[in-house]
This record gives sequence, structure tokens and C-alpha cells, in this order.
Amino acid sequence: MNTLAHALADGSTHEVTNQSRPLVDVNLWAIDRPLQEAVRRDHPAPDAALQARLQALGAEAGSAAMQQHARLANVHGPELRSHDRFGHRIDQVEFHPSYHALMEAALRHRLHGSPWSAGPGGHVERAAGFMLFTEAEPSVLCPVSMTYAVTPALRANAGIWADWGALIASPRYDPRFVGAAHKSAVTLGMGMTEKQGGSDVRANTTRAEADGEDGWGTRVAITGHKWFFSAPMCDAFLVLAQGEGGLSCYFLPRIRPDGSVNAIAIQRLKHKLGNQANASSEVEFKRATAWLVGEPGRGVAQILAMGAMTRLDCALGTAALMRQALSLALHHGAQRKAFGKRLIEQPMMKNVLADLALESEAATALAMRLARAVDRSENGQDVDGHEAVLRRVLTPIAKFWICKRGAAFGQEAMECLGGNGYVEENGAGVMARIYREMPVNSIWEGAANIQALDLLRALRSGPVADALMHETAEARAARDDVRRLGERVHHGLDGATGEAEARRLARDVALLVQAALLQRSAPAAVFDAFCAGRIAEPGDVFGALPAGLDLDAVLARAMPWTA
Ligand SMILES: Cc1cc2nc3c(=O)[nH]c(=O)nc-3n(C[C@H](O)[C@H](O)[C@H](O)COP(=O)(O)OP(=O)(O)OC[C@H]3O[C@@H](n4cnc5c(N)ncnc54)[C@H](O)[C@@H]3O)c2cc1C
Repeated sequence: MNTLAHALADGSTHEVTNQSRPLVDVNLWAIDRPLQEAVRRDHPAPDAALQARLQALGAEAGSAAMQQHARLANVHGPELRSHDRFGHRIDQVEFHPSYHALMEAALRHRLHGSPWSAGPGGHVERAAGFMLFTEAEPSVLCPVSMTYAVTPALRANAGIWADWGALIASPRYDPRFVGAAHKSAVTLGMGMTEKQGGSDVRANTTRAEADGEDGWGTRVAITGHKWFFSAPMCDAFLVLAQGEGGLSCYFLPRIRPDGSVNAIAIQRLKHKLGNQANASSEVEFKRATAWLVGEPGRGVAQILAMGAMTRLDCALGTAALMRQALSLALHHGAQRKAFGKRLIEQPMMKNVLADLALESEAATALAMRLARAVDRSENGQDVDGHEAVLRRVLTPIAKFWICKRGAAFGQEAMECLGGNGYVEENGAGVMARIYREMPVNSIWEGAANIQALDLLRALRSGPVADALMHETAEARAARDDVRRLGERVHHGLDGATGEAEARRLARDVALLVQAALLQRSAPAAVFDAFCAGRIAEPGDVFGALPAGLDLDAVLARAMPWTA
């Protein structure tokens, strides 16, 4: 008896066939050639030890166990415990054990404060690790990213740094709600956004009143609110408040050094579209104790410096989500048949998948190039200042373009899976989760318009046009369409671009730099197809690459397996 006949004889109504197997237990590093090449290109010493560390992280991040943690942490999201059963405020957030398992792994792999003392290459390695981990679960990386970003600012207060510096870099995650003196590691958050203004932080009304001096310097009492305050179980926050000298930056621990709980009232948790495993709250400060960090009145500059680091992470995170969505789409397309062929063999689907692969590789290349600029300029490896200029200009560019492309990418990748792509199935439908996660990186840490405005500011910061022309010289020489784009960008960088055209300029710079990076380290088929589909013609919809390109070569490079 054949299988179908056997099933029907058993009383079953049908046999399940032609459904793809889940992509599980894969080494995310081993299957990601574009990321491997970016690390080889951007790390100053990509030796065997580095490869082994990323290999280990890739194996863990792609494991079935991590996927299960990600599912559970998203399905069983954080819950606020505002009061105990006797009516006392406790202001704590309870997480599923899988959230803690993910956080433990992220800190163990040193994705938080460690790179600042790791020496040359530390930020590039951490960027690659951050991308691999994002494919396991992105939303727990919110506090990890904030801890990474606030570290340099915190160094401005020697007393706090002496007490907290080692804990910020420690890989031994400690979720307990106890004072830092009793912990093996800490995490940090950031509080800027208020009801009346997020992008426009100068509108902040939260105020800081002088409360004396101690070993940590100027102490204040903070009264006011924050409308978005993510990861409220962090051990401390850098918050903006109006103090003496204007808007300033303050260090506000959850538990004061004397062991008392600080006056942060968590009002409620946000009900968000995605990012479900991470708690984002609304808080009120009722004379909460905090300490000045940096110069009084310099809060905006300090927040911008932190924002530059979280913006790098937004770009890395979205590039990683693209890679994950692409892997799922390719994996499905290689198995599922329709109209007599595997989907990946259908000419139009091949065009769609190849186009997604180009976008994914270009995003990875740009985000990692920015990480290299950070790394070189932080580690004294930027003799002529080129990397510092690129760091300044590529931060808003990468955040703007990669994150803006993410939501459209997620939609197209989801469609490759047909109806199954839209189904969550108790958290097991990873593609649907990716789709819901995509827009947040474009909004938080400054939405797209704010990035484009920041690009205009960056143009005044140094020889941006020279740096970009130097960076893209080979690609401009290689193709006429890239040369023409370069001319348009050069013209736009001359200071005449107004706010209304700033997005256009940001897009053009992004495409130019992406083309240059692909020309340098991707196969010719990838560079050619990218230029043909993005620069010669506008890439307004995925799957509209012109005829005559080597799409098989593009797909072969992107497939999520190792052979
Ligand atoms: C899930 C989540 C978690 C968050 N966590 C935190 C957190 O932990 N800490 C924190 O401080 N914040 C947090 N935020 C807040 C986030 O950073 C802000 O929402 C974001 O910066 C935008 O600010 P806003 O919401 O006030 O919007 P607005 O500032 O009102 O902006 C609305 C729109 O107007 C545009 N816009 C503003 N000014 C201009 C202009 N001059 N020209 C053209 N367009 C303009 C913006 O680009 C945006 O598209 C979080 C947000 C989300 C969604």
C-alpha cells in the first residue's frame, strides 16, 4: 500500500506534503558569506581565534534551543508588577526565564560594554556578533545596545566609572534587583523622550534640582516623566533633565548606593507592534536621586554621542533581520514547489529572491563599514582623520537607509513564504515576528527625517565630500551609472541641499557607498546586479531587476547553507 493509501485507510483526510522544513540548528556565521567577507575586510586582524569566536556564537545563535528561547520570550512577554499584595509600590518587571537565558548569552558573548576596552577590532567583532545574535532574538538586545552606547559618556564621571566600569563590561549577567555593589554585571538604559517631544529633546520639562555633592560629584533630585523608557529593569539610566546650565545628562540608578530603591515609578508597559520580549515603559520620577555626567548644559551633545552608537546598532540590527528573513525565504523557495517547479526556479521568484539578496548584502556591507569607522577612530588607527569623517556621515546614512528599507524587505520576504509567512503559530512563525520588528529600528533613536537632517549637519563637520569621493573612487571608475551618481552626490554635498531634499541626498549617498563596498568585496555578479537594479534604474519594488544579470550567481552566494 502506498503512503497516501495507507493514510487514508487509517481514516486521515490527507497527507501533508510540499511544506518546507523549518530552518533550525544552523551555524549563522558559517552560512553568511557576506558577513564573513565584511569581517575580513573591516577587522584589522581577522585571525583564526576571531573566526572561532564568531563560529561559536553563530552555532549558539542558530541553535534550536535559542529559537525556543526566542519564541517563549516573545509569547510570554514582560509583565509589570507595580505593587505587592499589601499595596506597596514595587515597580518591577517580571520576565519569562527564556528572556534571562537570552540576556545571559548576549552578555556572555560580550555584546554590551566590553568592546570599549577590547582594543583594535573590538567594535568590528562586536558588530558581527550583534548581527548574529539579532538573528536569534533582536528585542533583548535593546538594553544590551544601550549599555554599549552609554559607556563612553559614563567615563566622564570618574567616581561612577570607578564603581561601575568593570560591571558594565562583565560577561556574567545578573538580573537580580539589588544594588550594583552586590552584582556580577549591570545593564544601562537611556531616558530622553517625553510626551511633548522626542526628536526635539530641548522641549524636555523634567527638572533636576541641586541636592549636594559627594564622591560621584554633583547630586540632584529629578522630578518629571519619560514617555518611552525601555528596559526599565536596567540597573541605571542616563536621563536628560533641565538643570543648572540647561539640559544636562544625569546618571540615575534604580537602587541608590545606600541600598534604598530610587524614586522611579513605572506607570505602565507599552503595548507594542513588535519588540515583544523587551519591556518599554512610561515612568515618573519623584525626586529621584541622580548625579551629573559631563558638563552642565551639555546634555544634548552627550545624548547625540550615545545616539550615534545606538544608531549603529539600529543599522546592524536591521541588516541582520534582513539576512534572517532572506535565509528563511531562500530556504523555503528551495523546497516548495508550485506549478511543477521549485519556487526558486520560477523566473520571477528568482528575480525577487536575488533582489532581496542584493539588498541584504549591501546592508551588511554598509553597517559593517560604519562599525569599522567607529573601531578605527576609537582605537587610534585613523591617522588622516578619514575614518572619523566617515563615522560622522555614515551614522545617519546607515540608520536612515538600511532601517527604511527594512520594513519593505520584511514584507517581500514574508510574501515569499505565501500564507505561512503571515502566520505566527504561537510564536513559531519567525517571519511574522521579523516583519513586526522591522519598523522599530527606523523609529527609535531618531526617525528617518531626523537622520536626514543629521546628514545635513554632518556636512558642516569636516571634509565629507572628499572622504566620500575617496571611499568610492574605484566603483565610480568602474561603471558610468556609478560615476553619474557620484557627480550628483558631490553636487548635493556642496552645502546647497535644503531640508526638503535631504532624504534624496541620504538615499544617494547610501547607494553610492553600498556600490563601492560591493565593488570591493563582493563577486562581480553582485556588484553588477546591484548597480543595474538600484543605480541605473530606481529600485522601487523588489523583483524588478533587468534582464541579462547573473542571478544564479547572486543566489548561490546567498543560500543559507555551507557547501
Ligand atoms: C519601542 C520603543 C522604545 C523606545 N524606547 C525609548 C527609550 O528607552 N528611551 C527614550 O528616550 N526613547 C525611547 N523611544 C522613543 C523614540 O526614540 C522616539 O519615539 C523617537 O525618537 C521619535 O520621537 P517622538 O515619538 O517624540 O516623535 P516626534 O519627535 O514627534 O516625531 C514624529 C515624526 O516627525 C518627524 N520629525 C520631527 N522633527 C522633524 C523635522 N524638524 N523635520 C521633519 N520631520 C520631523 C520625525 O522624523 C517623526 O517621523 C522608544 C520608542 C519606541 C517605539
